[in-house]
Amino acid sequence: MFISELFKAGRAPVFSLEFFPPKTAAGWNGLRKTIEDLSDVQPGFVSVTYGAGGSTREQTIELVAEIKNSTGIETMAHLTCVGSTREELDSILDRLEGNGVKNVIALRGDPPRGDATFVTTAGGLAHAVDLVRLIRDRGRNLCVAVAGYPEGHVEAPDLETDLDYLAQKVSAGADLVITQLFFDNTRYFDFVDRALAKGIDVPIVPGIMPITNLGQIERFTTMCGASIPEDLHNRLHEAGDDSDRVTRIGIEYATQQCRELLTYGAPGVHFYTLNKSRSTVEIIRRLRTPPI
Ligand code: FAD
Repeated sequence: MFISELFKAGRAPVFSLEFFPPKTAAGWNGLRKTIEDLSDVQPGFVSVTYGAGGSTREQTIELVAEIKNSTGIETMAHLTCVGSTREELDSILDRLEGNGVKNVIALRGDPPRGDATFVTTAGGLAHAVDLVRLIRDRGRNLCVAVAGYPEGHVEAPDLETDLDYLAQKVSAGADLVITQLFFDNTRYFDFVDRALAKGIDVPIVPGIMPITNLGQIERFTTMCGASIPEDLHNRLHEAGDDSDRVTRIGIEYATQQCRELLTYGAPGVHFYTLNKSRSTVEIIRRLRTPPI
């Protein structure tokens, strides 16, 4: 099923979870258990990332196919332009379609670890919009998502220019936008208003990361250019090394964030789980329980 169908007007909010292909056998066993347990929360779909530099190409295809076949949960494969020629990307798309995948998020990708800037592979694609065009020009039967950045992409000169490029991705045929993580909802609401003003009329799904570790979230936000509100930062600092307390703060904060997002029109929430779904499952349960 195309996940864009899930976002049709009048439907319940769509909760989705993002996983990455583990590096070890123990990681795979843990992830399989996590995915089995998801039947309790019945997410709209789950997505599987594509490792930096295309490093998880095979595992991404394997995992999306496995999740869909073993659980029946709809899946979305991430695909980046990094390290592949146009022909190689075409053949990965053939394989995804051959494995029954119906949904892809088309990304440029980050520079491989250690490289400061993104360098287009010879014979490859320079921007996510080129990947959307590659998919649409071949008339592939795929639903296509793209990435959006409420606080701007780290390389973008300004928010306006970044949004112009997002508009190009949507005009090229993207069916929905999933945002980078953020902790300040005003950034999302402002982004959605500005996107609408540019004629971007596809669902814009907020990306939320439940915090479980302060050091980790500081690294991520520095890398992706997202900000942490001061009061949240202070509370996390106070919790220090007490990881249960940090996790509780993360669950409470994300639950409130999601409640507000959904109340004011977000079509669903995409959770960045880092393969640890305990917080996400708890947040979804709370969101589905009406407040007393
Ligand atoms: P683009 O849309 O190509 O944008 C990249 C930069 O170029 C931006 O600064 C933009 O303003 C600019 N730009 C865009 N189009 C043009 C144009 N036509 N001309 C000039 N400049 C342009 N990374 C992974 O490696 N694997 C993953 O699985 C993965 N999953 C992600 C999922 C989501 C939901 C998100 C939000 C990000 C994900 N990323 C992933 C990270 C993503 O690859 C990086 O943020 C990357 O740096 C940009 O990718 P993009 O698709 O947004 O690129």
